[in-house]
Amino acid sequence: SARSMPSVLEPLYTEALRRNPGEPEFHQALGEVLESLGPVLAARPELLEARVLERIVEPERQIIFRVPWQDDFGATRVNRGFRVEFNSALGPYKGGLRFHPSVDLGIVKFLGFEQIFKNALTGLGIGGGKGGSDFDPRGRSDAEVMRFCQSFMTELHRHLGEHTDVPAGDIGVGGREIGYLFGQYRRITNRWEAGVLTGKGVGWGGSPGRTEATGYGNVLFAAEMLKRRGEGLEGRQVVVSGSGNVAVHSIEKAQALGAHVVTVSDSAGYVVDEKGIDLELLKQVKEIERGRVGDYAERRGTSARYVRGGSVWDVPADVALPSATQNELDADAARTLVRNGVKAVSEGANMPTTPEAVRILRAAGVSFGPGKAANAGGVATSALEMQQNAGRVRWEFAEVEERLAAVMRDIHDTAYETAERYGAPGDYVVGANIAGFERVADAMIA
Ligand code: GLU
Repeated sequence: SARSMPSVLEPLYTEALRRNPGEPEFHQALGEVLESLGPVLAARPELLEARVLERIVEPERQIIFRVPWQDDFGATRVNRGFRVEFNSALGPYKGGLRFHPSVDLGIVKFLGFEQIFKNALTGLGIGGGKGGSDFDPRGRSDAEVMRFCQSFMTELHRHLGEHTDVPAGDIGVGGREIGYLFGQYRRITNRWEAGVLTGKGVGWGGSPGRTEATGYGNVLFAAEMLKRRGEGLEGRQVVVSGSGNVAVHSIEKAQALGAHVVTVSDSAGYVVDEKGIDLELLKQVKEIERGRVGDYAERRGTSARYVRGGSVWDVPADVALPSATQNELDADAARTLVRNGVKAVSEGANMPTTPEAVRILRAAGVSFGPGKAANAGGVATSALEMQQNAGRVRWEFAEVEERLAAVMRDIHDTAYETAERYGAPGDYVVGANIAGFERVADAMIA
């Protein structure tokens, strides 16, 4: 099911590329959404007349700022900070902060653009935004990370507010960083404003289940896709890439549903563990020691094999859950997965599958869950955190998990039914893009 740009959108797409030079990931995210809108634009010409697309591809506001901080040797360092407030038609800007050396304006815009439609799909009243910095937390002491976060928030705070813009975590930003950021916001503004950041510690305004939500949600989404094929996760071989928050909690949920998860990876290599990933050891190595998957393999004993470099997608799987970063699953990897009989691929990360890889998987009849649907459980639970903060209450873990499961089922069914309605049965990319787009577009026109 190869798609191409609907001809009515070609001038707009060309103009968007011209206006945003040197931002390949943003171009990719833009192309992928615009390509799937043909059927809805044909059915609803008023969307074109209202120039919704010209408006939606342009961020409402883009903030770039300097982040000076002092390292442990007393030397001054300077990084660049970003916040792209992309669309607020449905609610306050909402989306994570990514701290990684690869972060630039194009990466933040790709993530912010995806976030608009993802957040719309949750149905929870949140707009789309994203931020971050090219700061690399790896190898930095707690004190360095704290000083960086404080400097970052010293500039960012003026743009935030529980009704304005509400960041959370992403790659390189977890509970520790959210704590430092929240502390600085509170200190500068003299406001204990829980709703201004999500992903807080459960003891000081965070929601139970937020840490688990993205990974749990992605596995629930994969399970829903399998159910439509008359299959289940029980006894299935699952391959997971990455070893951060999303990967760890995908493994946890997949194992709880009876799947056999055999891999984890990081930027240096991957591990195949014939006995299944030992989650307790993985958490010890990754979350407590902040180590690498190679350390996991060394301590695990003979069942685990460490492969330096290489592709985790070489490992045969019924279900693949890319949970590391953008463009980590390319056309070759897709062909290998298909050859090995993969049935479902569900994106825990944002845009981990290249457009060509998506086409190969779809042409082979693989169920493909795009990130903006499949990994929406994280931001959905952030919205649940905001609801609890607004009511000054804290729900039980079980209640949050139940609501998360309901949201994931609803996103799955919405994407599935929308795809069917617009003549692309089984195509969750078309379904998610059109369903998310219609909600945002209708609000913008109104
Ligand atoms: N970074 C996550 C995402 O990509 C979560 C954002 C949030 O909770 O605001 O959706």
